[in-house]
Amino acid sequence: MSVLVKIADLDLSGKTVLIREDYNVPIKDGVVTSDVRIRATLPTLKQVLEAGAKIILVSHFGRPVAGKYNDAFSLAPVAKCLSDFLEVDVPVIKDWVDGIDMEDHQVVLCENVRFEAGETKNDDELARKMAQLCQVYINDAFATAHRAQASTHGVAKYAAVSAAGPLLINELKSLSKALREPAQPIIAIVGGAKVSSKLTVLETLSEKVDQLIVGGGIVNTFLKAAGYEVGKSLYEPDLIETASKLIKQAEENGCQIPLPVDVICGKEFNENTKAVTKSINDVEADDMIMDVGPETSKQLNEIIAKAKTIVWNGPLGVFEFDQFSQGTESLAKAIANSEAYSIAGGGDTIAAISKFDVEDKISYISTGGGAFLEFLEGKKLPAVDILEEAARAWTAMEKAREL
Ligand code: AMP
Repeated sequence: MSVLVKIADLDLSGKTVLIREDYNVPIKDGVVTSDVRIRATLPTLKQVLEAGAKIILVSHFGRPVAGKYNDAFSLAPVAKCLSDFLEVDVPVIKDWVDGIDMEDHQVVLCENVRFEAGETKNDDELARKMAQLCQVYINDAFATAHRAQASTHGVAKYAAVSAAGPLLINELKSLSKALREPAQPIIAIVGGAKVSSKLTVLETLSEKVDQLIVGGGIVNTFLKAAGYEVGKSLYEPDLIETASKLIKQAEENGCQIPLPVDVICGKEFNENTKAVTKSINDVEADDMIMDVGPETSKQLNEIIAKAKTIVWNGPLGVFEFDQFSQGTESLAKAIANSEAYSIAGGGDTIAAISKFDVEDKISYISTGGGAFLEFLEGKKLPAVDILEEAARAWTAMEKAREL
């Protein structure tokens, strides 16, 4: 793995440290409904506090309109959770960009960084102001590392010292370890709604893996490409040709893309629609394919059982509706029971893993969705790239100081 500055490399005593965390957590009626992500950050916060620093926390939450405050996207519920966990008051600061009055050893949480007009545009002026708030910037948020934004990228250019937090380092280490020399055969499962959002990862994986299992809305486009009727199912007509090419390319690379032999259909897209299992040859013009059938699950389970490495992103069906969740459940359980090294990532995948209660049996669960996919594609994550650059500058400076 590349060289990054770590917390342990730094003297943080008396310093102000700005930490970019990922507190984009589920919140309902002003209360955090899953605090997993918040709890995961506590060791980082404790390490920095024990080193004698004060902490400014920055995170995004949801997708508010940039440039104005909106109660619905406030991070106040997260501050409440942090206060409880750390047993100190963690205030939320609304106007923080131009400076924050802080006491020694204090922890404050800045309001949703996406309320700031320049955040998603990676605006230089905002990045500079963030850098001026602190002596050390730490990025600990893997899930946003594929985005070059002011709090994930720009700030690292201007902060006096920019380092990687333990959560970020752990993700990078675990993913590169698993992907550098993966045990063969490798099986990848890419499910979810659309081919278009996962096209590049499908292309890359088809060059690297032995079997590429596609599912969800994605498989409908592949079925259409293979000449099957998909009725009213979600599929992308303009990507049928791309899917055909992918099937051919995969074959040339020795990778198989198995297609379902049976599917579970409904007539409407809602949680009350009746689920009917059909052979793939019997799908009618008014059917919507919403899951793979039991025979397909059996075949997929056999493939999974032979794998030594499994990479999983995306559900095989509309798993949120119980009558269309069996394909994803069967897959999750097959992965859980396999002896392969398994890596899974992405919001819906994590939700499925949790729904089917297999968290403990997946070798590594990445917090990233987009970042996880881009890492799989072998792309450089901009937030990591800039930290590497900062690490080179920091190392040179430290060497010069020693001379
Ligand atoms: P993604 O965000 O691309 O990973 O897509 C996840 C979403 O795809 C989930 O909310 C699933 O309900 C949905 N999905 C999976 N299979 C289908 C399908 N056959 N038809 C429509 N939506 C689907």
